Amino acid sequence: MIKKILKDQKEYFCTGATLDVSLRKKSLKQLLSVIKKRETEIAEAIAKDFKKPLFESFITESGIIEDEIKFMLKRIGKLAKIKSAKTPVFHFKSASYIVPEPYGNVLIISPWNYPFQLALSPLIGAVAAGNCAVIKPSELSPNTSAIIAEIIAESFAPGHVCVINGGREVSEALLDEKFDYIFYTGGESVGKIVMRKASENLTPVTLELGGKSPCIVDKTADIDLSAKRIVWGKFLNAGQTCVAPDYILVDECVSAELKERMVHYINKFYGNEPRYSSDYARIINERHTARLVGLMKDCSIYFGGDYDEKEKYISPTIIDSPSWESPVMNEEIFGPLLPVINYSDLDAVLDIIRNRPKPLALYLFSKNRKTERKIMMTVSFGSGAVNDTIINAGSAYIPFGGVGSSGMGSYHGVKSFETFTHYKGVIKKSNAVDVNLRYPPYTDKKLKMLKKILG
Ligand code: NAD
Repeated sequence: MIKKILKDQKEYFCTGATLDVSLRKKSLKQLLSVIKKRETEIAEAIAKDFKKPLFESFITESGIIEDEIKFMLKRIGKLAKIKSAKTPVFHFKSASYIVPEPYGNVLIISPWNYPFQLALSPLIGAVAAGNCAVIKPSELSPNTSAIIAEIIAESFAPGHVCVINGGREVSEALLDEKFDYIFYTGGESVGKIVMRKASENLTPVTLELGGKSPCIVDKTADIDLSAKRIVWGKFLNAGQTCVAPDYILVDECVSAELKERMVHYINKFYGNEPRYSSDYARIINERHTARLVGLMKDCSIYFGGDYDEKEKYISPTIIDSPSWESPVMNEEIFGPLLPVINYSDLDAVLDIIRNRPKPLALYLFSKNRKTERKIMMTVSFGSGAVNDTIINAGSAYIPFGGVGSSGMGSYHGVKSFETFTHYKGVIKKSNAVDVNLRYPPYTDKKLKMLKKILG
């Protein structure tokens, strides 16, 4: 089946249909209208997968996709245009231009944690840039994967975009095929498999991976507001957000106050018994629940720590001062556990961050502009925010992506178009003039003149 679908998509791409910008626009408009029409069903499917609150689904799944499509529709005409470029004087007499060319047939592999958004967001860039695409959503969020397949079938010709659902074997079989671009979102270990397989065909890749994203709170920060924004960004989606603050580094002078205010906001947002709150999601499956329960073991729990493995429930939990060597500080948490580590010397903790794998995100809560500048200029991370959490993943105006072990390549907004585009440079030479300087026989006189021209 995979081979047949790919053959059809390759044939469809070769017809040149997707080079027509109006077709790209028409398909994106159709996608937008189908998503709008089925907004409630999408949220219900995600809720079936892990009790994600409907409100959260709207703001972080369908809403964000609708916004991205509208953003792209406004710019696609300009982005797809051939652009003229300058030409060096030694190529006299020529004109240059750049052709934004679609790669061709692309593969998008997505994870379960924002199951709708992470399958569709790269697709917007792929379609806008004129590619055909196969999407392989996650098998761990089957209800969402099923509705994604229906929505795509309702919006695109199968030769243009189609969904192939299935687990690891399907993903592996797809990676055995030759695509022109692979866009993968998920964990680091599978990211390595994807890159290895892609290298066999020299297929370019974007890898959107995870990691441990630090959140620094210094003593100049507005502690109450910081606590509120950290609690929101950490416990949204029950902490299963690639850019969630993984752990907090707080100046010891304000640590007690920050923890007290975080507890206040956890209670305010989710009540005294978060398990009964309709605003609090569940862990995706029993394996991940058991993993998180294991991470809590031997930790000093400051707040929370309740769980029900059968229910896949873990309460919002604050962990006090774990050691840097403890398990919870050595793997991406990807759940509602929030370690808090105090510091007395900011430079020392910045060195620790620099010596660990490069994080996907970094958050700083501070009113000190010098501290902000120092951290933003000297610590490497994918993207970040000052005085807030996770909003860096929700803007079409800045690129989003990892660096080092948190990934390679980026997307969102214009960057999504660029990611799925090969920029083909062309120089067109005039036949009216032919400067003899470059042709043999080479002479000292020619060399002198060349040096003069080149300055
Ligand atoms: P997952 O288990 O759903 O896997 C992701 C995809 O890889 C799925 O479609 C799955 O079928 C496929 N897959 C699994 N094993 C495979 C194999 N051996 N070969 C080929 N394909 C295979 O998701 P996950 O990996 O648990 O996702 C969570 C991770 O993703 C976290 O580390 C998180 O930080 C990261 N993430 C990153 C971003 C980002 O934008 N950078 C976004 C969301 C999640």
